[in-house]
Amino acid sequence: MAAPVKKVPLRKCTGCQEMKSKKEMLRILRTAEGEIIVDTSGRKNGRGAYVCRCMDCFEKAVKSKGLERALKVRVPEETYESLKKEIESIEER
Ligand SMILES: [Zn+2]
Repeated sequence: MAAPVKKVPLRKCTGCQEMKSKKEMLRILRTAEGEIIVDTSGRKNGRGAYVCRCMDCFEKAVKSKGLERALKVRVPEETYESLKKEIESIEER
């Protein structure tokens, strides 16, 4: 019998379109209240979009509107700004 292959759930980055494991990605979440947040726990309910843990991919996702498409909502400029700050602080950790 073949050794069981552990399946790692892959998610597509809305920036660079690469498939990576969830652990390597940031989850951007639209909550039921319509807030758009960085879901650091990865456990909150809502519609999620994934980007790599880097500012490059986040900015690509913003520019290509991939993030808006994935979240199915228009993201206001100030929301992008606050997400960006949050990602910066995560990157530094
Ligand atoms: Zn990426």
